[in-house]
Amino acid sequence: MIKKLLIANRGEIALRILRACRELGVRTVAVHSTADRDLKHVRLADESVCIGPPSSTESYLNIPAIISAAEVTDADAIHPGYGFLSENADFAERVESSGFIFVGPRADTIRLMGDKISAKEAMIKTNVPCVPGSGGAIPENGKEALAMAKEIGYPVIIKASGGGGGRGMRVVEKGADLLESITLTKSEARSAFGNDVVYMEKYLQTPRHIEFQVLADSHGNAIHLCERDCSMQRRHQKVVEEAPAPGITAAQRKRMGDILTKACKDIGYRGAGTFEFLYENGEFYFIEMNTRLQVEHPVSELITGIDLVKQQLLVASGETLKIKQSDITPKGHSIECRINAEDPDTFMPSPGKVDRFHLPGGLGVRVDSHVYGGYTVPPYYDSMIGKLIVHAEDRASAIKRMQGALEEMVIEGIKTNIPLQQRIIKDEAFIAGGADIHYLEKKLGL
Ligand code: ADP
Repeated sequence: MIKKLLIANRGEIALRILRACRELGVRTVAVHSTADRDLKHVRLADESVCIGPPSSTESYLNIPAIISAAEVTDADAIHPGYGFLSENADFAERVESSGFIFVGPRADTIRLMGDKISAKEAMIKTNVPCVPGSGGAIPENGKEALAMAKEIGYPVIIKASGGGGGRGMRVVEKGADLLESITLTKSEARSAFGNDVVYMEKYLQTPRHIEFQVLADSHGNAIHLCERDCSMQRRHQKVVEEAPAPGITAAQRKRMGDILTKACKDIGYRGAGTFEFLYENGEFYFIEMNTRLQVEHPVSELITGIDLVKQQLLVASGETLKIKQSDITPKGHSIECRINAEDPDTFMPSPGKVDRFHLPGGLGVRVDSHVYGGYTVPPYYDSMIGKLIVHAEDRASAIKRMQGALEEMVIEGIKTNIPLQQRIIKDEAFIAGGADIHYLEKKLGL
């Protein structure tokens, strides 16, 4: 079993990982930038190491500094959290070649699934349903590209193979715009991801975003922990997530679960991961796999009763999964609202000192946040400062519970998106369930 874990992340997820370590009796090393000395998990960790200045390139993305911190503290494993280096195959490789356990999949799996074209090819091979598309890079020849788009059928979407974070995508409505859009997406992809390979997919007009959580060990066992609906998005960023997804039947869940656990075995997947799909007219279309823990993992934990971070640590230690698929039946309903330090109307980040911080509570209310009264949210990182998660016997009760919890939550001194979350949770279409991925932006008039 891992004895000492270095947490290569910050904020709420670092604290989340630290909590799992404490329960497992694993010692912890926090690494932090000079701007993050006051983070809650840094105070709670057994040891901490400052790895650089505020800029994440020089701290949380600084591979040599992180590896040295693991060496000087004699840690035996590194958990990357989400974001930062979590899906960086070179990092995973460096961690393992330096003699540490990487809490995540093998580097070659990260590489395979990190490139969207090779990921799609791998999924097609193992029979995971994909969005119809170019099946590889778009041909350089303009005529061939036009013929391809015509065959797929407009509108199409041009996507960067190395893309992520909702960037590097462009919708094309008609042939006259195709070639220019390809050129633009290519040049954007080159500067943003250092890789200008782009591919084409049919643009689904009103899909929902539904994703499946999986967990696999290194002995060929894989299970799924049901699905989540993350259709409430702004600029391709998730705002509210829930599990199970409204309207998905047990038969659909089983069909997809069987396909995906088989896919995990076929690609030799290890650890926790997520297969993301667009869902339209009763069909699932694979868009990408996240080879890491996700922000929204708590909703799956609450409906299954499984601690995903503990499972990640057990699997990384080489243990065999003790949970069987037959042990998993979704219980009740869970909803997560991301709490961001931002203006609820303009979405501008709102860093600064938190004067008052009062958390909601009661049965079925969970808050994953590193914030405390007097904490200063630094301007250098993501604006998400926590997650409010509820669980109740059914969806209607979970919505009521979330409405109450949002009302109870007080954060003063900085602006937050709590008013926006209150609007969403009271919204008729949200309450009805099953809104598509464009709903939120339309509602907000964006
Ligand atoms: P990223 O890695 O940047 O998150 P994804 O491939 O997961 O990229 O796509 C992000 C979002 O973009 C999806 O959740 C969806 O909103 C939209 N999107 C991507 N592909 C399509 C498509 N073929 N049709 C419609 N929307 C799409």
